[in-house]
Amino acid sequence: MTKYDYLIVGTGLFGAVAAHQLTKKGKTCLLIDKRDHIGGNVYTENVKGINVHKYGAHIFHTSNKEVWQFVNSFVEFNRYTNSPVANYKGKLYNLPFNMNTFYQMWGVKTPAEAVAKLNEQKAEECAKLKAKCEKEGVAYEPSNLEEQALTLVGKDIYEKLIKNYTEKQWGRKCTELPSFIIKRLPVRLTFDNNYFNDKYQGIPEGGYTQLIQALIGNCEVRLSTDFFEHKAELTALADKVIYTGEIDRYYDYRFGHLQYRTVYFETELLEGVENYQGNAVVNYTDAETPYTRIIEHKHFEYGTQPDTVISKEYSKEWQPGDEPYYPVNDARNTELYAQYKALAAKEDNVIFGGRLAEYKYYDMHKVIERALEMFA
Ligand code: FAD
Ligand code: UDP
Repeated sequence: MTKYDYLIVGTGLFGAVAAHQLTKKGKTCLLIDKRDHIGGNVYTENVKGINVHKYGAHIFHTSNKEVWQFVNSFVEFNRYTNSPVANYKGKLYNLPFNMNTFYQMWGVKTPAEAVAKLNEQKAEECAKLKAKCEKEGVAYEPSNLEEQALTLVGKDIYEKLIKNYTEKQWGRKCTELPSFIIKRLPVRLTFDNNYFNDKYQGIPEGGYTQLIQALIGNCEVRLSTDFFEHKAELTALADKVIYTGEIDRYYDYRFGHLQYRTVYFETELLEGVENYQGNAVVNYTDAETPYTRIIEHKHFEYGTQPDTVISKEYSKEWQPGDEPYYPVNDARNTELYAQYKALAAKEDNVIFGGRLAEYKYYDMHKVIERALEMFA
């Protein structure tokens, strides 16, 4: 006789939403996590009253009213609006690219002046690309991130705010990266520093861990428990398994390892420093600074503590054993994932969900949407 209806492997957002939905239906769930805390990558750790985003800055944003109301029914969200600042060789620029950025870059004061300057910068690049495409006998279209960025915003912005940041982040030349990466960055002719276009945005007051705890409710949780170290014993406890870990690991990497882009953080508590950089996120867009950005966690919640905690974020090439962060959706990995997915589809009692099991870059609201849909 099994003890639980569901064994949920992983206490991240996907596992926590699944637990909530299933409990609501009267099902019993046991959650496990190999880490010594709940929350997966959205976990926030309280350091001197500051909620530190341990696995990277997490800003909740969505246009889905149902998802927004869902998360707000568990915790209160503040009015945080992401508006990162870029530091290029000591000079500061607002992001995303908007009237403030254009003023800081060129001194233009009106949208008409900004458009004229952008067009002048773009015209040169578009002409170059046109000549290149004609020479190669191909249709006029940017073939990589560099061409995309140059024809979208011109040389000044590309060189000061895009090129080095992107190359540090991805560890590859912009000429070797796909153009779609940059397409999602807004270009605005208003003085609006809001990084996202979504209707709703904020940070849970008191940190994300509270949201996860509220979702999990009274379900039993076993931490520091790796599924694969106790697989037989754990699966025997439940009728079905919801697996939110890496899909290739589930199948013992039989077709090979899926690759990730990874980041790591150097986190420091600065005692007696009340305000280090005046903003939650500052991007370093030069080539010389080794990190891509500095996060000052207290600003996510308008903290007034006497100390501060900062994290320098670095990018690095992923190797087996590293923390998997961003899936690499290139041809090789997409093909490999399809092979694992085909195996997963044949499982009767195992449900695969979340960013690692579906090998997909999911923002938080998308993970919630997906889990709500799967366990409706
Ligand atoms: P996870 O949070 O990874 O949870 C999976 C859990 O499973 C983990 O706790 C893991 O320990 C556990 N697990 C895995 N294998 C096993 C095993 N064998 N045994 C036991 N437990 C196991 N989204 C946004 O909307 N806004 C942002 O600003 C944002 N910023 C991000 C910044 C970074 C650096 C990264 C990497 C992601 C960011 N995201 C952001 C995306 C967000 O982190 C994800 O959408 C979300 O965390 C996915 O939840 P999940 O449950 O699918 O995965
Ligand atoms: N980007 C950039 N300069 C910046 C911020 C972003 O060139 O200061 C580019 C970079 O190529 C990055 C992409 O925009 O990969 C998307 O940025 P975002 O911050 O959305 O990426 P994330 O860190 O969430 O992957």
